[in-house]
Amino acid sequence: MNGVDRQAFPFNVAVPDILGLAPYQPGKPVEELERELGIKNAIKLASNENPFGPCEEAKQAMLRSQIDVGLYPDANGYYLKGVLSQTLEVSENNITLGNGSNDVLDLIARVFLQPGDEAVFSQYAFLVYPLVTRAVAAKAIVTEAANWGHDLQAMSRAITPRTKIIFIANPNNPTGTYVDEQQLIELLAGVPERVIVVLDEAYFEYVQRADYPDGISLIDRYPNLVVTRTFSKIYGLAGLRIGYAVASKDITDLLNRVRQPFNVNALAQNAAIAALENIEHVEKCRKLNQQELARFAEFCQELGIAYIPSVANFLTVEFGDKTPEIYRGLLHQGLITRPIENYQMPEHLRITIGTPEDMDRLVGVLRELL
Ligand SMILES: *Cc1c(COP(=O)(O)O)cnc(C)c1O
Repeated sequence: MNGVDRQAFPFNVAVPDILGLAPYQPGKPVEELERELGIKNAIKLASNENPFGPCEEAKQAMLRSQIDVGLYPDANGYYLKGVLSQTLEVSENNITLGNGSNDVLDLIARVFLQPGDEAVFSQYAFLVYPLVTRAVAAKAIVTEAANWGHDLQAMSRAITPRTKIIFIANPNNPTGTYVDEQQLIELLAGVPERVIVVLDEAYFEYVQRADYPDGISLIDRYPNLVVTRTFSKIYGLAGLRIGYAVASKDITDLLNRVRQPFNVNALAQNAAIAALENIEHVEKCRKLNQQELARFAEFCQELGIAYIPSVANFLTVEFGDKTPEIYRGLLHQGLITRPIENYQMPEHLRITIGTPEDMDRLVGVLRELL
């Protein structure tokens, strides 16, 4: 932590591990850029939100639940868990709801990590893993990436008697890489059962690969597996903050002991139910993402821009030492993308796949800048 006196109040009384954390840097909000540039039509391709937003039914359900905002929400998410249970073919006793899946990741860290314990994750993995690990004074063990993706064998080798958790993002953000079913099963079969394997499937609904594993189908076989998913990505509800974990009944019981009783608000619960019921919207978004991701990758190939092949709803593109210049050039034209120096990837920008119109605009500006 630069610029603070560790001996001075309140830093001298804070938990030392907290002083080593940097605040999470979110993508720039659209309104902020529009204010700065005095423009109106900025678009955000920076935080992997669904450019089509939620389905109409989810918006309506949210508006209806506004009527009851004077009351606390359902602390146990009874109706939402019912719909999730049917959709995912698991019991309600396997589901933990969170205020976004980041909340669930935090619950997992608080249940299983004590000061001095170790959590293993990959270089370039999602930044929330070091955040939740270090917030409870546990130790982050970072294994080297292979081709920007997770090296599961290296992660297995990093396990020590102090290891409590392995975090795997599948696919990973910010690289868009994924591990296949065989690699995952090999890891699950090899790790000691006392090690909790967290499989973060935030982009699950976007992936269309035959060898991509469905973590939830594995929880009966591996009692140490916790799968997390979210309504922030394909369901288009990032602003409402709602996600969930699926795990054994016993792990779920533990997570619910540390969960704040009203962590998921009523608007989010009702919108999520409606979002789950509209399969067509999800299908449409998946298809358009696939189409625009392929089109953008083709464009990069045509212009000789390197990128990391992605199965998610973003593409991480390499501009080398021109990266800051390209980022600013795009911003100036009202296009917000995501610099990822904080992932030690200063030569890349992570670009969320937008609507076909968004992508036409992006490609047009990139052509000019290059
Ligand atoms: C976006 C994202 C999440 C989702 O976070 P929420 O708290 O559910 O909005 C989780 N994991 C990864 C890897 C992500 O990219």
